[in-house]
Amino acid sequence: MTQKKYFLPESEIPTHWYNIAADLPAPPPPPLHPGTQDPIGPEALAPLFPMELIKQEVSTERFVEIPKEVREVYRVWRPSPLIRATGLEKAIDTPARIYYKYEGVSPSGSHKPNTSVAQAYYNKQEGVQRIATETGAGQWGSSLAYACQMFGIESKVYMVKISYEQKPYRRSLMQVWGGSVVPSPSNDTNAGRAILEKDPNSNGSLGIAISEAVEDAAMREDTKYSLGSVLNHVLLHQTVIGLEAVKQMEMVGDYPDVVVGCAGGGSNAAGLMFPFLRDRLVSGSKTRFLAVEPASCPSLTKGEYRYDFGDTAGLTPLMKMYTLGHTFMPPGIHAGGLRYHAMAPLLCHLYSEGHIEARAYPQNPCFEAATLFAQTEGIVPAPESSHAIRGAIDEAIAARQDGASRVILFNLSGHGFLDLQAYDDYLAGNLVDDHYPEEKVREAMQDLPVIP
Ligand SMILES: *Cc1c(COP(=O)(O)O)cnc(C)c1O
Repeated sequence: MTQKKYFLPESEIPTHWYNIAADLPAPPPPPLHPGTQDPIGPEALAPLFPMELIKQEVSTERFVEIPKEVREVYRVWRPSPLIRATGLEKAIDTPARIYYKYEGVSPSGSHKPNTSVAQAYYNKQEGVQRIATETGAGQWGSSLAYACQMFGIESKVYMVKISYEQKPYRRSLMQVWGGSVVPSPSNDTNAGRAILEKDPNSNGSLGIAISEAVEDAAMREDTKYSLGSVLNHVLLHQTVIGLEAVKQMEMVGDYPDVVVGCAGGGSNAAGLMFPFLRDRLVSGSKTRFLAVEPASCPSLTKGEYRYDFGDTAGLTPLMKMYTLGHTFMPPGIHAGGLRYHAMAPLLCHLYSEGHIEARAYPQNPCFEAATLFAQTEGIVPAPESSHAIRGAIDEAIAARQDGASRVILFNLSGHGFLDLQAYDDYLAGNLVDDHYPEEKVREAMQDLPVIP
């Protein structure tokens, strides 16, 4: 009988995050000022982020120490388990060995507290009393509210109005953790009031909510802003996933041939991949890395590698990313966390250099994979994570077809207990298969800034 679950003792919680910037053959293209289009220095970010996070954003130090206060909070759910998917392997009759790292064991049910806790800590250290952020379906908002609660700071979350009304439970989570949540557009900011004046019934959007949170942080001395994905420091914090997985794979005595992650802004995929990708960059390992995205929002597989804004309103610095255009509004699929028009610049850089592959799937095959996973492994996956499962299953099917053994490792980024409506829709046959909205992307790409 093979061992099923690989636990590390608490003493093995990593002491440092891994910064892949130290091992890149060439540095990624720098962020540019939205007005002047010159490369920006760290000082441009100072009104929004605490200094320590800005330093991490531009750091090329290979290992960054995890503060002991952050490790203390990580102890609640870290090290997270690595599990061999023996039930799934049997169901698809594959010679492949499939492992998954399970991040749904955190208090908010996803990988996001790995960074929210670190971010709240550095803000607290620098005397910040309040953090403002935006959230769509609420995964990030709830993770941030939890982290702020742990360090005794206030959180203010601008939640996209349609989700605030239709998905009340993550809002409740935020409130339980002391967060103050308003539907966006709100009356609390100029950006929100301007939208409401034009359209009192606006459903809101992530772009509007970002504008509100950024304005809130910029206007108040005691408040900073916080982002849950995309930025270098977020990816850095998430490497705690991969660092643990490296040790757990050693315990198993296996090494992955392919590492799979779902990709919205790219943080959980990068978090699992980067510590293994280091072996590829430094010692030439042949491991493949596969990012899986939704067919309706396929930034890596269909986007162009260009400078674009990080938000819909065009307020952020310009970053070079695979993008569908910052004004592109992806269709309302259930995997809300994957509806981002672009992708983390670090992940894009590695993709453009051929170190990472990407694939896109519509939502029905993903829910089919997630349901099979729940039936064989027991855990009900988040709709976002179902993309990684689909990718892993297809790798295992390919292994069966070439009769080769293959070691597959994927990240199960969260559980789906607050997404059961999506499963209801799937089981009732009501899920529309989203397809690539080519026309809308072409329109949005017209709005990209022209960089000489
Ligand atoms: C937010 C979220 C994602 C997508 O974000 P990334 O930055 O791409 O990781 C994926 N899975 C879950 C469960 C999420 O909550």
